[in-house]
Amino acid sequence: MSIGVGKFTCLHCDSCCYFEREEQGPLVFSDEVKRLRRLAKERGVELTFREVKVNGVTMYRWVILGYCPFYDRGSKLCTIHAVKPLACKMYPLLFNPRTGEVVVSKDCPWVEEAVKNGGVSLSDFPEEAKALRRVVVRLSKGGLNN
Ligand code: SF4
Ligand code: SF4
Repeated sequence: MSIGVGKFTCLHCDSCCYFEREEQGPLVFSDEVKRLRRLAKERGVELTFREVKVNGVTMYRWVILGYCPFYDRGSKLCTIHAVKPLACKMYPLLFNPRTGEVVVSKDCPWVEEAVKNGGVSLSDFPEEAKALRRVVVRLSKGGLNN
């Protein structure tokens, strides 16, 4: 099966867990900040977040420069996969809360290849779309968890 025909499959290329600029960092909710801080403390790591308003909802830009501290370069896996923030769960889907637009990140090589092979649609990303829906619902509830 060629890329772009069928469901998205992560290639474990590492690029979405490596950040060159602050504004690339995941946008997370306050309960996610608490969870990430707790997990980081267990590993003796310090995390930085900057408060941002997204459509009137307080969110936090997780400032990561370089590899995410939860990324394991050996296995090329996220070590907090089950509890990673929604922003990571929905990637390569991206949501612009100001416009309501959903885009698929072309920085993801699976997406890049799929686009070359005929394009992508939301139905190619069933698991990621579930996370996206949770983000949209939470934003509509002022950031509260469901
Ligand atoms: S939490 Fe996991 S998926 Fe998210 S950036 Fe870090 S390593 Fe990558
Ligand atoms: S950029 Fe795409 S293929 Fe690479 S690790 Fe992230 S989701 Fe997987």
